[in-house]
Amino acid sequence: MGNDSSPAVHYTRLSGLEPLVITPDLLFINVGERTNVTGSAQFRKLVKEERYEEAVEVARQQVANGAQILDVNMDEGLIDSEKAMVRFLNLIMSEPDIARIPVMVDSSKWSVIEAGLKCLQGKSVVNSISLKEGEAAFLEHARLVRRYGAAAVVMAFDEVGQADTCERKVEICTRAYRILTEQVGFPPEDIIFDPNIFAVATGIEEHDNYAVDFIEATRIIKRTLPGCHVSGGVSNVSFSFRGNETVRQAIHSVFLYHAIQAGMDMGIVNAGAMPIYDQLDPELREAVEDVILNRRRDGTERLLDIAERYKGRKGEKKTEDLGWRQHPVRARLAHALVHGLDAWVEEDTEEARQQASRPLDVIEGPLMDGMNVVGDLFGAGKMFLPQVVKSARVMKKAVAYLLPFIEEEKARTGDVGKSNGKIIMATVKGDVHDIGKNIVGVVLACNNFEVVDLGVMVPAQKILDAARAENADIIGLSGLITPSLEEMSHVAREMQRQGFSMPLMIGGATTSRAHTALKIDPFYSAPTVWVKDASRAVGVAQSLISSDLRDAFVAANDADYADIRNRHRNRGDAKRLVSLEHARGQRFTCDWAQYTPPAPASPGLHVFDDYPLEDLLPVIDWTPFFQAWELAGKFPAILTDEIVGPQASDLFKDAQAMLKRIVDEKWLTARAVFGIWPANSKGDDVVVSLLPPGEGARRADEGTPSSPSLTPRTLTPTPLPRVGEGLAQLDSHHTLHFLRQQVDKPAERPDFCLADFIAPETSGKQDWIGAFAVTAGIGIEPHVARFEAAYDDYNAILLKALADRLAEAMAERLHQRVRTEFWGYAADEQLDNEALIAEKYSGIRPAPGYPACPEHSEKQTLFAMLGAGDIGMSLTESFAMLPTAAVSGYYFSHPQSQYFVVGRVSREQVSDYARRKGVERAQVERWLASNLDYDPE
Ligand code: SAH
Repeated sequence: MGNDSSPAVHYTRLSGLEPLVITPDLLFINVGERTNVTGSAQFRKLVKEERYEEAVEVARQQVANGAQILDVNMDEGLIDSEKAMVRFLNLIMSEPDIARIPVMVDSSKWSVIEAGLKCLQGKSVVNSISLKEGEAAFLEHARLVRRYGAAAVVMAFDEVGQADTCERKVEICTRAYRILTEQVGFPPEDIIFDPNIFAVATGIEEHDNYAVDFIEATRIIKRTLPGCHVSGGVSNVSFSFRGNETVRQAIHSVFLYHAIQAGMDMGIVNAGAMPIYDQLDPELREAVEDVILNRRRDGTERLLDIAERYKGRKGEKKTEDLGWRQHPVRARLAHALVHGLDAWVEEDTEEARQQASRPLDVIEGPLMDGMNVVGDLFGAGKMFLPQVVKSARVMKKAVAYLLPFIEEEKARTGDVGKSNGKIIMATVKGDVHDIGKNIVGVVLACNNFEVVDLGVMVPAQKILDAARAENADIIGLSGLITPSLEEMSHVAREMQRQGFSMPLMIGGATTSRAHTALKIDPFYSAPTVWVKDASRAVGVAQSLISSDLRDAFVAANDADYADIRNRHRNRGDAKRLVSLEHARGQRFTCDWAQYTPPAPASPGLHVFDDYPLEDLLPVIDWTPFFQAWELAGKFPAILTDEIVGPQASDLFKDAQAMLKRIVDEKWLTARAVFGIWPANSKGDDVVVSLLPPGEGARRADEGTPSSPSLTPRTLTPTPLPRVGEGLAQLDSHHTLHFLRQQVDKPAERPDFCLADFIAPETSGKQDWIGAFAVTAGIGIEPHVARFEAAYDDYNAILLKALADRLAEAMAERLHQRVRTEFWGYAADEQLDNEALIAEKYSGIRPAPGYPACPEHSEKQTLFAMLGAGDIGMSLTESFAMLPTAAVSGYYFSHPQSQYFVVGRVSREQVSDYARRKGVERAQVERWLASNLDYDPE
C-alpha cells in the first residue's frame, strides 16, 4: 500500500472490498466469532454437513450485526480444514455485503492460513503466529505474513508454553514485538497481540486472577509497545458458565468494560450480543465484577449462587417498575431519557427548574448528562436507533417546556447556551426523502449539536446562504435517489467557488464512500466525509469539530479517499466493455416463433382512486422497515433475535398500533394506476400503442369481483396530459428507451436489455407491456405536522416509514393481481407473502432508476403513459416521485424476464441512447453521472 502520505498518522489499515482504518474514534473493533467451528456448534454442523449456503448466511448475520472483521476458523478433526477454508472464503468473497469487511484467517495450522490468504482480496489478518515453535519458525511466518500483505495476531505463547500471568504475557509480547519490528520490519500497527483470555470462576484457585492478568498485561503492553493493538477471544472468559447465556453475557460485558479501559481495542465477540454494562442487574453486575476483578475469595461461589436465578431469563419481559420515581429529580430525568419515557417529563423538568438558578442549567446539567449517557450507549452499540429517537423525544419535550423561561432569561441577561457545534442539514434539490436525515438530525441533537434542518428539495444556494447566515460549523447533505449524487457534487463545487471552508458531510442510501471520494471530495478543498449511517454521524461530526481530533481524522479520511481515487485510476481495463454492436449481437432472445405472448384480460388503463388499506396489510414486507431504523435482521426472526430482538419487538408493537389507527381513522389514502398495452421491441426500445386494439379490449369488470373498492375504474384512452418537459410523445404511441449491458461475457450468457423481453416487431408476434404507479402517501402531511408540533420525531418518522411500507405493499399486491386477474397470465398462481417477497413469481416489475433501467428520466414517459398526475402523483426535477411514499415501474410477463444490472456503459451507447430519446448526450451523461464506472473520457 505504498508509503503513508501523512507520516504522523500510522493507523492500521485493513480492508475487504472496503477499507477499515482503525482510527482512535473507533474505540473497539468487533471481530465476528460465529464463523468459527471451534466456537460455534451451529457453524461446525453446517460445515460438516457441507451446508455452505447456510454457513454463508452466518457470516452475513455477523456483518449485519456489526462485525467489522470476520474471524474464520475451520480447525476440526473431522473437517478437511484447508479445503473447507478455501471453499468458504471463495463463497463469501462473491458476496459483496460480506466481502466488504476484512477477514481474519484463523487456524493453528500454517498451511490452512496460507491457503486462506490466497483466496482473499484486500488486507487481511492472520490469526495467529507465535513463538511457540521458536524464533526461526516465528520469523519465517512473520515474513510470509508480510509478503501476503497481511496484519497478524500474535499469541502470547513461547517455547515454554502459553502465558498465564501478567508478567509472562508482557514478557512474551515484548520479545515478539522486538523481533517483529527490529528483524522483520513489521509495522507496529499491524501487530495485534492476543495475551490469552482464560476462563475464570472454574473452581480452581489458580484461575481466579486470569481476567486481572489479562487486563493488567493489556495496560502495560499498550503503554510500552507503541502502535500495537490488543485483542482476545472474549467468550473464553465465561466458559465455566456454559448454558447460562445471561450470566455469560454479563461476564463478557463487565470484562470488556474493564479491558477496554485498559486499552484492549479489538475482540473476537458475538458481534453485538452484549448487554449494556450500566444496565446490568446491579446484583449480578456486582457479583460478576467480584469475579472478573478477583475482589474476594468467595467471588466464584457467590456468583454461582445467584447464577441459577438468571438462567433462562433472557428476553423475559419485566413488568413496569416504577421504583425510579422515588429517586431524586436528576436521576429521574436521566432515567426518563435513557428509557425514552415521556410521561413525567414536564413535571420533572419543572421540579429541576425550580431547583436550578437558571433554566438553562437544567439543559446543561441533568438533561445533557442524561443525553450523554444515551450518546455513549448508542456510540458503543449498546442502544439502538428507535430507543435513541424516543430519548430525543423526551429531551425535546423538556427543552420545549423550558424554552419560554430561557427566552425570558435571555431577554434579561443576553445569555445563550453553548452547543457542540451547529450543523445545517438538507435533503438536496430534486429529492424528497428524509427518514434517514431526520434520524441523523435527532441523533446529532441528542449529542448537543444544534441542528438546523432545511427540509427536503433544498437548492444549493439556499443551503449555502443558510450556512453563512447561521454561521454553521458543518453542512450535512442527504439524498436517496441517484440523481441526488450529482446534485451533491454540484453543491460541493458551489462551496468551493463561493469560498466556503466548513466541512461537508454526505449521507443517504445511494451515497457511498467511493462516490464521495471520486465525485464530491475532489471538487471541494475543505474536509468532505461520507457518513455511513446514523450511528456514525456523531463520531464524524465530533471529529470534524474537535480541535484535538480534527487533523488526524481529516488526514486519515483524505488518505483514504486519495487511495480510492488511485485504485480507481489504476484499475486498468480488467473489466473491459464490449462494443455496443457486440453486446447487441449477444442479446437475450428466445424462439419467438414458438412463443405466444399472453394477452391481457383487461388491457388499457385502470385506476384505483382509494384502494382499501386492509387489503395491503398481509403483503407488507417488514424487513426493510427494520432496516430504516438500522436494526439488522430478517422479519420475523428479528423479533426474537438475541441482540436486537427486544428493540425490534417494541418497535413492531408501536408500528402495529399506529397501523391500526392509519387504517381505522383513514390517515392515508392509497391510489394506483396501471396499464397494459400492446407493445413490440425495436432494438433497445419498446414501442407501446396506448389504444388497445378492438379485439383485445374486453371489459375489466366483466367478471364481477366481490368488493367494488377492489375493482379499478377503467379509463377510456384520451390524450394524456403533458408531464415534465415533454420528452414523451403525445400521440397514440410511446417509446420506452432502455440501456444494454456491455459486459464481456461468454457467448452463452446474454448482455441483457429490458427490451429483449418483449417480442421484436420483426417476430410478427403481438406482445404486451404493463406499467404502474402507486402511492400510499395521500393525506400524510397533517399527521406528520401534528407529531412534529408535539416534538415527537419518533412517531413522525414511524408514520413515514409505515407509509413507505404501504406503498411497497400496494406495488406487491397490484402486481399480484395483475398477474392473476388483470393480465391474468398466471391465473393459478398461489404464493404466500414470503414467496412474494422472494419474487418467486413469473414476470418482473423493474423500476426506473434501479439497476436494469438506471436512467431516471424515463419516469416522465411512464407517468405520461399512466396519466399519473390524475391520481395526485408528480415528479421533481430529479425525477423523485411525490408523494414520497410511492413506487412505479414496468410489468414484463415473459417467463424468462429477470432483473440484472446494466452497470458500465460506453460513451458510444450513451450517444446512441441520447439520439433515440432526442436529447443531448451531455444531458444523459448528467443523468447517469452517479454511475462511477461511466467515464466519458
Ligand atoms: N419487498 C420490497 C420490495 C422492493 S425491492 C419492499 O417492500 O421494500 C424489489 C423491487 O425493486 C423489485 O420489485 C423491482 O421493482 C425493483 N428492482 C430490484 N432490482 C432491480 C433491477 N435490477 N432493476 C430494476 N428494478 C429492480
